[in-house]
Amino acid sequence: QLQAAEEYVNNVYELVKQRNPHESEFHQAVKEIFLSLTTVFAKYPQYIEHNILERIVEPERMITFRVPWVDDKGKVQVNRGFRVQFNSAIGPYKGGLRFHPTVNASIIKFLGFEQILKNSLTGQAIGGGKGGSDFDPKGKSDLEVMRFTQSFMTELYRHIGPDIDVPAGDIGVGAREIGYLFGQYKRIRGSYEAGILTGKGIGYGGSLARTEATGYGVVYFVQEMLQSKGLSFEGSTVTVSGSGNVSIYAIEKAVELGAKVVACSDSNGYIYDEKGIDLATLKQLKEVERKRLSEYTDIHPHAMYFEGSKGIWTVPCDIALPCATQNELDEYDAEILISNRVKAIGEGANMPSTLEAIDLFHNNEVLFAPAKAANAGGVAVSSLEMAQNSSRISWTFEEVDAKLQTIMKNIYENSLKASEEFGEPGNLVIGSNIAGFIKVADNMIAQGV
Ligand code: GLU
Repeated sequence: QLQAAEEYVNNVYELVKQRNPHESEFHQAVKEIFLSLTTVFAKYPQYIEHNILERIVEPERMITFRVPWVDDKGKVQVNRGFRVQFNSAIGPYKGGLRFHPTVNASIIKFLGFEQILKNSLTGQAIGGGKGGSDFDPKGKSDLEVMRFTQSFMTELYRHIGPDIDVPAGDIGVGAREIGYLFGQYKRIRGSYEAGILTGKGIGYGGSLARTEATGYGVVYFVQEMLQSKGLSFEGSTVTVSGSGNVSIYAIEKAVELGAKVVACSDSNGYIYDEKGIDLATLKQLKEVERKRLSEYTDIHPHAMYFEGSKGIWTVPCDIALPCATQNELDEYDAEILISNRVKAIGEGANMPSTLEAIDLFHNNEVLFAPAKAANAGGVAVSSLEMAQNSSRISWTFEEVDAKLQTIMKNIYENSLKASEEFGEPGNLVIGSNIAGFIKVADNMIAQGV
């Protein structure tokens, strides 16, 4: 049966490559998941009978659209918009929007595919989706961002709804963009539907603790993983790549738990601050002034700035949290981290480690918290935001944070349990893929072809 399962998985993987040529990120995400699932298919051949794999890798819908807008000089610009509605077996499509020049069909599909299993792991009733644009917010004025974002929603609005598809933020889409998107939707539809987006401002239907949720969630998850080996954040040295929303709140929570965070980065370079990154400065620079990280040293001259964001992995640490972007940590970076005796990795970004890097961590007994489990706190609290919107009530920060902690603990335990049941105890990549997959697959079967 194992042989039949292997054959089935390989055949579908070949099909994915044929049907989606040149989509390397999507292939990578599919491969990682497929590697985890062979034992599941050997044990439960009904998944093969129902051809679940071939069905789950094909998005239910992939929408692309033109986004024309006028820049400050009066010139007409055109960007591409995307929304993949990947899987609705367990709930309405749910997932962020990414505005970044690297966005293309491959990136959106890899993110959407990961989102299916991530959302399933949260235990909430949310399906998988993702979207975005190749628009580059860097260097754009506030008005340009607003005009672009309004144009984006002018196309997207017809595809979303509180029970259809609920976008949120991702790279390049934060509180400001969500506000403009919400305003435009309301204007076009002429109706106040709080549940069409999450990550909203607190004054118009947002949830307390949503901003903090992804970063806090990563740290809660890693904490569970460390505790299983008698370790903790207390007294440990931590590096966190990125300096966006995920990184900032991962740093905040790690520090609260007694860690010293000595380095963080942006796309140009990284900061090393032996006294520990000053969070107030980082928030001011990144959240308020939208400036480069290099300016940190103007305020804290004792800190050092280095060009090249990948250099952050050469900084010795006990725990590394890659919270920037996909494939930011490869086998060479992994080797350096291992030679510097890193104990644990927690992925805050989506697919930040390459498959080769993950293998090295596993082979060298480095604790590894994979993205779709570790960073699920953001979308989990998005789902709590949807719940509050439907019932027209708001929970306190403490209530949401407590629910988030419970969810992260459950994700850890369910992933660990699945890794044990399928013969790879402690391998949370395999465990989380299996736990996420089984729930979606069973519900696809229940709903027929
Ligand atoms: N973009 C985040 C993620 O990758 C959050 C998505 C959401 O809240 O819907 O999971």
